[in-house]
Amino acid sequence: MRLMLDYHREKDFIVRQINSSETAELYGIENKSTIHVIDKELRIEILPTEIYHNYKTIKSNLENYLMDHGIVMQQEEDNSNSSTVPNVDSSLSDSETTILNKIVNLTHVVFQADLEKALKLSLTTEVFKNPEIEGESLQALRRYVAVVQKYSPLGAKGYDFFADLSNFINSSSDGIDGTAYKEKIHELENKTEIFDLHWVGCQGSAPNYRGYSCGLWTLFHYLTIRAANSIDDNDPIEVLSTIEKYVKHFFGCTECAIHFQEMAVERDMWNVTTTDQAILWLWKAHNIVNDRLSGDVTDDPLFPKIKFPSYRACQKCRSGFNFSENEVLLYLKDLYSDEKINNFGMESIDEDNVSR
Ligand SMILES: Cc1cc2nc3c(=O)[nH]c(=O)nc-3n(C[C@H](O)[C@H](O)[C@H](O)COP(=O)(O)OP(=O)(O)OC[C@H]3O[C@@H](n4cnc5c(N)ncnc54)[C@H](O)[C@@H]3O)c2cc1C
Repeated sequence: MRLMLDYHREKDFIVRQINSSETAELYGIENKSTIHVIDKELRIEILPTEIYHNYKTIKSNLENYLMDHGIVMQQEEDNSNSSTVPNVDSSLSDSETTILNKIVNLTHVVFQADLEKALKLSLTTEVFKNPEIEGESLQALRRYVAVVQKYSPLGAKGYDFFADLSNFINSSSDGIDGTAYKEKIHELENKTEIFDLHWVGCQGSAPNYRGYSCGLWTLFHYLTIRAANSIDDNDPIEVLSTIEKYVKHFFGCTECAIHFQEMAVERDMWNVTTTDQAILWLWKAHNIVNDRLSGDVTDDPLFPKIKFPSYRACQKCRSGFNFSENEVLLYLKDLYSDEKINNFGMESIDEDNVSR
């Protein structure tokens, strides 16, 4: 009843409670404790929630579903007409708020600043936690540096940085002292003057949302796409296996690393046979994580987790309630193409070069 009242102003959908068995039968609904979505063609999908769940969970699942299918709620439309972002944490700096104002109404844009900041943190803060890098960790770091160098989002400006870093980490056969690694990175940062950026597409509405893990996913997708676009005859598993090892040995979120290892086994990551399949493997894996975390405490209310890409961003990517993988592949390759990667935030955040 509360849901029916909450959404009574909506134009694109209605919420109804079905009490009669005949009506349930008419729509082919067998389990009355679940929530069903019925579209105009009378196709039915079951939401991953039950009427016994708490109100907040049901509401969040329903709203994620609607957003995922390009249905804009009245309330959202009202908000999107406003020039400032609602529900922003007051501890955010002016520049972070300016960035949020720029990005909040964009659908799926990849920002160069996020790629570079994630790359930096993956090579610095995450690795600095290790007093000694040896054995499997050293192998994982070497492979990671080789892959980010090969498919680098930094282009020519990262050439010297990677050349020096590779020399350094490949020069020792036994292991690298964590402090020596840190000093080397600082020396290279000063020498090359790269990596001094803000989050842009990964800016959260509060300090505890988004940021590094968002940037890391973005960087990982970027690497799979760059490998597939490369003219070399690359090992199809090269990027995924490097990501898997990096996550296992260096990603600070231990729970995420365990889940990712499990997914690699359960979803046959090692049997991926083409670089295009590798792009889709990571896309699916990310959607599984999105599904699991949707409505969870880590879900930024301003950027709720959805099945990616949203219907609004790519209608062709949907075939009924399912995704059309060929279209998703084309969409991802286009989204991550050099022409589409957005440079907002690379110079001054006052620049007005953000679009779409
Ligand atoms: C490898 C890995 C495993 C993780 N595992 C867990 C976990 O087990 N538990 C946990 O609590 N947190 C996990 N996280 C963190 C979590 O997935 C999110 O990164 C975090 O909650 C921030 O979410 P976000 O809303 O900023 O968007 P994110 O999910 O981080 O997504 C970043 C951006 O990627 C794009 N995107 C979203 N979905 C897809 C997709 N399917 N394909 C391509 N692009 C997409 C969107 O533009 C989005 O803005 C993991 C992170 C990583 C990198």
